[in-house]
Amino acid sequence: KDDVKGFFRRNAFVIFTVAAVVIGIGLGFALRPYKMTYREVKYFSFPGELLMRMLQMLVLPLLVSSLITGIAALDRRASGKMGMRAVVYYMATTVIAVFIGIVMVLIIHPGKGSKDEFKNQQKIEQVSPADAFLDLIRNMFPPNIVQACTQQVSPFLFHNVNLHRTSISLTDLYEGNNVKPRSGQHIMREEVIPILGQVNGVNALGLVVFSICFGLIIGNMKEQGKPLKDFFVCLNEAIMRLVAIIMWYAPVGILFLIAGKIVEMDDITETGGQLGMYTITVIIGLSIHAFLVLPTLYLVITRKNPFVFICGILQALITALGTSSSSATLPVTFKCLEENNGIDKRVTRFVLPVGATINMDGTALYEAIAALFIAQVNNMDMNFGQILTISITATAASIGAAGIPQAGLVTMVIVLTSVGLPTDDITLIIAVDWFLDRLRTTTNVLGDSIGTGIVEYLSRHELQSKDAEMGNSVVEE
Ligand code: ASP
Repeated sequence: KDDVKGFFRRNAFVIFTVAAVVIGIGLGFALRPYKMTYREVKYFSFPGELLMRMLQMLVLPLLVSSLITGIAALDRRASGKMGMRAVVYYMATTVIAVFIGIVMVLIIHPGKGSKDEFKNQQKIEQVSPADAFLDLIRNMFPPNIVQACTQQVSPFLFHNVNLHRTSISLTDLYEGNNVKPRSGQHIMREEVIPILGQVNGVNALGLVVFSICFGLIIGNMKEQGKPLKDFFVCLNEAIMRLVAIIMWYAPVGILFLIAGKIVEMDDITETGGQLGMYTITVIIGLSIHAFLVLPTLYLVITRKNPFVFICGILQALITALGTSSSSATLPVTFKCLEENNGIDKRVTRFVLPVGATINMDGTALYEAIAALFIAQVNNMDMNFGQILTISITATAASIGAAGIPQAGLVTMVIVLTSVGLPTDDITLIIAVDWFLDRLRTTTNVLGDSIGTGIVEYLSRHELQSKDAEMGNSVVEE
């Protein structure tokens, strides 16, 4: 009896979260016949919206304090090595993801047929990849660090991209609400926020760069830097305690997020033909990456069971599925990795925030498939050079995409323009994007988590010698 009780206590979060998903799906389908209005759906999903807001509230202090304490706890050599390993892992897995995407879309050829199957195509203005790329770099160096913590819109894209088509509104995207395409509904350019490297009004990329530099400096300041180091350690601890409380609410929020989405989604059975094949292609590609490539990589490098590792982060994966946002999921990912999988805090705090900001395997895979799908429906044959260009820009676009719902759809503009594909055709794939977004976000979170596990394993010698040198880690103090 005690065993059963113990099992439930240890796995309470996961059990509640899985139950929430099941109930959410059931409730969603049960309520669909009632054809709720947009406003009613909003009211109904309110508990879910609250969860999004709570998680997002934590992202900024968590990101900054984790990175600073994580890096300050290591010496320059150790953090350099760890950083290198993380970057090599991010690049390698992103390139593999893009490769899988390209192979899948070339084999399945979902765009076979004619473009006439699509009805709701509308106009989007062109954006130059060079300008978008410069914007990405620009965002790494925020001129005003306080402003970087509040809403900031990438100047170039904001003024040049014009998605005349949906109900994606400024508030929806900033607040992480899921976006529902309403074909035929035109909106003002100012309402659209195609932003690079921005998370819910936070310039995450800029804050990551700043926090890494700041952490390195504080770490080098020895005694003099101690008050600042203590401050951030304490801030980080306080935020993690808040996360622990919010985790109890998470299943409720996830239930309503999922049920609300099912209530309002368009009838999937209408999504036939090319779009259906495109959806299947993305799902197969993501599955190969998530169930085959990443676990194999983990197994080969660490010689540990990847599925035990994945069970430990189940709650983070479900949160990603429910929220469509890897940045909103970040607090949960932290908790799962540190508490369930026992990953060293010096590694999670350094590697995870960077991963959540720049490492998006699922997004890269999807961007490559979407670009080639659009080429196929336009009957445009892509040569090897063009496919290579798509691979490179899809990688860049995934790095630039913010960890917010449907950010990848926006950075697609760069990939399409780089090979002269019509950017207007992004509107062809919008109808299924809310669904694919959830799947690619889950893959993104899985990629970040497995990367953290691998980096910890590879860095074990440095961590051990640091422990021996200090008696104990600074983070643990
Ligand atoms: N929603 C994704 C994420 O947060 C980004 C994307 O749109 O691909 O990871």
